[in-house]
Amino acid sequence: MYPFHWVPAAGQRHASLDERPDGALAYPSGTEVSTLCGAQLAADNSVLAWFWESCVPCADETRRIASERTGGGRGDQSARSARNGRS
Ligand SMILES: [Zn+2]
Repeated sequence: MYPFHWVPAAGQRHASLDERPDGALAYPSGTEVSTLCGAQLAADNSVLAWFWESCVPCADETRRIASERTGGGRGDQSARSARNGRS
């Protein structure tokens, strides 16, 4: 599971790292969420809203988060800490 959620608001589908209310599959309409593009918007959970276009900065940010989650573990970090001894 990725840590972000998509949320339609203000005419576009944004993504947010905010916690959703317990058990909710989406933010209820009117929920104030801070989006990945840096806005504070009220969610619109109507059916039509899910057909809006994705917000481009939010989409970029979700791709970055997703690749951080899956692209790691190449050993760079252990190599760096090994070199961090006394010099
Ligand atoms: Zn956005």
